[in-house]
Order: sequence, then C-alpha cells, then structure tokens
Amino acid sequence: MKLFECLGCGQPVYFENTACESCGRRLGYLPHDGVLTALEPADILPPAADPPADLNAVNPAATNGVWRALAAPEGRWRFCINAQHDACNWLVEAEPPGHQPNPDAYCAACAHNRTVPDLSVPANLTNWRRIESAKHRLFHGIQRLDLPHETRDEDPDEGLAFDFLPDPPDPKAPRIITGHDNGLITINLVEADDAKREKIRVAMHEPYRTLLGHFRHEVGHYYWERLVRRAGDNSEAMSGFRALFGDEREDYGEALKRHYAASGDGSPGASWQEGFVSAYAAVHPWEDFAETWAHYMHIVDTLETAGAFGLRVKPRISRGEEIGARVDFDSYRADSIDQLVEAFLPITFAVNSLNRSMGQPDLYPFVLSPRAIEKLGFIHLLCRHAREGLPQLSPQQGMPPAAMPLQTSQPQAAAVPVAETAPPPLPDRPAEEPVTPQTAALIAVAAQLALDPVD
Ligand SMILES: [Zn+2]
Ligand SMILES: [Zn+2]
Ligand SMILES: [Zn+2]
Repeated sequence: MKLFECLGCGQPVYFENTACESCGRRLGYLPHDGVLTALEPADILPPAADPPADLNAVNPAATNGVWRALAAPEGRWRFCINAQHDACNWLVEAEPPGHQPNPDAYCAACAHNRTVPDLSVPANLTNWRRIESAKHRLFHGIQRLDLPHETRDEDPDEGLAFDFLPDPPDPKAPRIITGHDNGLITINLVEADDAKREKIRVAMHEPYRTLLGHFRHEVGHYYWERLVRRAGDNSEAMSGFRALFGDEREDYGEALKRHYAASGDGSPGASWQEGFVSAYAAVHPWEDFAETWAHYMHIVDTLETAGAFGLRVKPRISRGEEIGARVDFDSYRADSIDQLVEAFLPITFAVNSLNRSMGQPDLYPFVLSPRAIEKLGFIHLLCRHAREGLPQLSPQQGMPPAAMPLQTSQPQAAAVPVAETAPPPLPDRPAEEPVTPQTAALIAVAAQLALDPVD
C-alpha cells in the first residue's frame, strides 16, 4: 500500500482515513488514480490556498454531497453509497449539473457486493465495516496489478461478487461456509470477530488467519477460474499450472479427507514445507494456487508499503550486506519473482524481529521453499500475462520442470509456444536450480530464524 498525504496540509494519511486530523478536510479515495485525496465541497470554497478557518463549518449538504478533489480538481465527485454506513471512503463520479443524483452509485469496490448483512443488528454493522476495510485493500491490490474483475452486472454468470453473511441464529441450521463458487465469494461474518477468528486459527493449527488473507485466498480461486480455467485445457496457463501445482481434476472432497485423515487431529505434518507456501496449500492444487496467490498479493503489497516508507534493511552483522535489502522498485511491476523475494525476505527478517521485540507474533510466519518460490513465479508471470499479454507461460519460460513429485499421475502437458510475440529472455540459471544463489542464501537464513517461531 502507498503512503498518502493530505493534499491540503501535507499531513500523512492512511488509505482508510475519512478526514485529515490536522486540517479537518474530508478525505476520499479516487480508485482510478489510486490516490487518497483531500476534498472540498464543490463550488463553495475558495481555492485550496486560502481555506476558511473551519472547514467543518461548511455544510456539505449545501453542495448536495458533491465534492471537488484536490488531486483531480477538474472532476466532481460523490462518496460511494456505502459511505453512509462508514463502510467505504471511495469516490464515484458525480452526475453532471442538472442531472438527478444516482441513488445506486456504488464505488468500484462496492459494486461487487451481492449481499451485505442486516445492518439493523449492531454487531453485523461492526463486523461488516471490518470486512469492507479488508475488501477495499484487496481491490487496491487488484487494481495495482491491473487484473480484470468484471461485476455480476457485466458478467452475470461468472462475475466477481461477494456475499457477507452471519451464521443463522438457529444452531441446528447449516453454517455459512467461507469460500468461492464460480466468481461468488462468501465470507462468514464470524471471521471479522477477532476472538472467534483467533479460536478458529488455533483449532485449525494455522500460523496466520486474517480477513485480508481470506480475501486474497478466495480471489485466488476466482483468478484460477478467470486466468487459467477460462484460458482452456490446452492453454499455456493450464499446462504451466498443472506442471507446477498438480492436476486439479483430482477429486477435491477425497483430497480434503485425505489431508485431514493423514494428521489425525488436523495438524499439518512437516512434509508440506518443501513444496507449499502453507500446510493448507497441500490439500489440493486449487488450494495450492489460492494460497500461493494470496502470498503473492501479501508480498507485493507489503513491499509497496516498505518502499513507500523508504525502508532499507542492512543488518549490523558480518553478513549484513548479504541479507540486506532496499525497496527501490515498484513491487506491483517487478521484473521477476527473484526481485520480489530478494527484497521481501530481508524485510520480513527485520519486521519479524521488530514484532518479537513487542511480544507479537511474526509478521510473516512462513518460510518460502525454492519450490514455493517457483509457484509464486508462475503467479507473477500469470499476472504479467493478464496485464501485458507477455510473457508466455510455458515451462521453458522460466518454470523448470518439477523437481519434486507432483500431486498427479497425469503426464505433463506439452508447452505450446506462441509464435507472434518474442519471448522474454530466459532466466539466467540452470533448469534444475529453481532460485538464484542470493535467494537460496536468504531461504537458509529464513529457515534458521524460523526455528523457534513465536506464535
Ligand atoms: Zn490536512
Ligand atoms: Zn464503496
Ligand atoms: Zn480455498
């Protein structure tokens, strides 16, 4: 996430802020520009250089809720309709003068909501606001990656949509399952309750469970459908996916049963660590993809934040240079997965250590294996492919053949070269070595530091 500032007074402000603590101006997010902007009631105030002493004294109702954005002064803006519930601070374009206000003006993020909970129940409102906060960060990531995300209006069968639902009061009634079904993502409101979510996390033996993590995982299922399945069975996307993640035609229910039966109490064994970003990823190729997708979004966004703060890590030890990093590139447009991982691991060493100094759990309580990094590399290429049409996704393009047994007995599909575009240069490394020596050194340090994790 970027770091924003109030364009009225220069005060640093966060993505979720709705007002500047320093000068009192209203703040709103312009999704198209990716900017949190200070606002002034449209056509009421003098120019920004000479604001009145008390901006709150100006009644926004006098302008019919229309605002002028300091970041885009030529336009006129309204808040998304969910702002009335304090659940959204994104802006939508206001109607031209003389037009009727649009009562259904949802922002680019809220236009995907299909069902929100009954807001007359106070707990629902509190939980839904937390859910919206995470969902807006999800959409920030989707927009920064420039990925397609049709609404249900645009694609009634497979558009991206959300149901946010509480469990029914009757304890015998079926529970709401958080999950994904063909573009429709359901989130159980209980996940917004910190105490209850933590209880579930412990019961599931997970090192990390957050609302934002849920969103990034579930949208990973959506992008598997959108970018892999829809590309077709003979596509490079599909053959590349199956080569790395396994054959998704494996029975999902059986795979789930097998995963939990293997451990008895549901706790993950140790073997997953060599091939997967998390224990849950080992359940089935679909879950592997969704988990890896979520980690990719975690990594690029965490690095964007680190970069926005000019964060630089140079540990004061003899190997400090080797495990140091600075984020002086746009993580959402990184050249390669190595560039991301070589910056991300040193940053997480440092921030995990900071967290331990405060008695907090690690920020990133995972160790990435070379195999998991290869899978992240596939997600990286898939996003670039979706955005730019390049590079190609065949295993020759930087995805060496599987070094570990895949979860499938299916033969690996042959790569189909695409003739009309020049392939990007091959990674400068032999096929049997999935990561650079620099990354390998960082992985070794990460494994050492994770030996005694605080959880
Ligand atoms: Zn300000
Ligand atoms: Zn909204
Ligand atoms: Zn899943």
